[in-house]
Amino acid sequence: MYILEKAPAKINLTLDVLYKRPDQYHEIAMVMTTVDLADRLEFFLLDKDKIEISSENRFVPNDERNLAYRAAKILKERYQIKQGVRITIDKQIPVAAGLAGGSSDAAATLRGLNRLWNLQLSMETLAELGSEVGSDVSFCVYDSTALAEGRGEVITELPAPPQCWVVLAKPVQGVSTQSVYQSLNLDNLEHPDTEGMIKAIKTGDYDGVCNRLKNVLETVTLPKNPEVEQIKQQMIRSGADAVLMSGSGPTVFGLVQQESRADRIYNSLRGFCEEVYVVRLLGTHQTLD
Ligand code: ATP
Repeated sequence: MYILEKAPAKINLTLDVLYKRPDQYHEIAMVMTTVDLADRLEFFLLDKDKIEISSENRFVPNDERNLAYRAAKILKERYQIKQGVRITIDKQIPVAAGLAGGSSDAAATLRGLNRLWNLQLSMETLAELGSEVGSDVSFCVYDSTALAEGRGEVITELPAPPQCWVVLAKPVQGVSTQSVYQSLNLDNLEHPDTEGMIKAIKTGDYDGVCNRLKNVLETVTLPKNPEVEQIKQQMIRSGADAVLMSGSGPTVFGLVQQESRADRIYNSLRGFCEEVYVVRLLGTHQTLD
């Protein structure tokens, strides 16, 4: 018996850091949504009491460091599951890109094993377990559009933003999320209008969404990675309605309503940047077709 799950990439429409907490985590507020660029995970039931994991991507560890493995282990231990699982990951999301690929794999693992092992756990329970694997995993469990607060694990679901195309461009050099947060200076930050973004999403106001894209982590990643700013400028020149860096970067995304304009941006970035994708904004959970 086996189960398939899709693990889509996420983008931040806003990312705000409010303060550093006594437990050393940052208190954040971010509006996130999903795009149609996804890893595909397969889960095969094993009779032996073991978790096996494989992925052909050389940047992804095929052992207990893999976030999908960690999610499976937590579920297995918490519910004392005697059966095992073989997990294969077909990696499509660039690694260390600010697109939460690893977190999305962990979340897909929680959803997939909930079905494979017939645990009948609620989304809330899966999201809670996910927060033990990583801060973005709770959001990825819902796999929709949401406001994430706390250290990322307090989720309020939102409707999908207005439909549009998303051009994603990832510079070669990846970025470590942890080091970006460590270098963030909280003084004099210009904060995103999170409430305004939520309102724009709820009223289907595409221009309102575009006008409010903002990510405070750009203050760290942009000065260290000049190509991020260059990609942003190139996207604007080629007709993007709005552009932003996702997560801690370095991936930049541009929003646009016409497919022809998305193609123009895509073509203008090739040669400039190795990994470029044109995808639809999803914003709600999709089952595998
Ligand atoms: P975020 O936006 O949540 O900070 P990211 O997109 O920047 O995440 P990931 O692609 O999730 O970064 O990878 C971060 C690190 O996690 C990589 O260095 C990678 O080795 C490790 N990792 C562990 N499991 C996975 C996985 N299933 N997929 C990708 N990376 C993984």
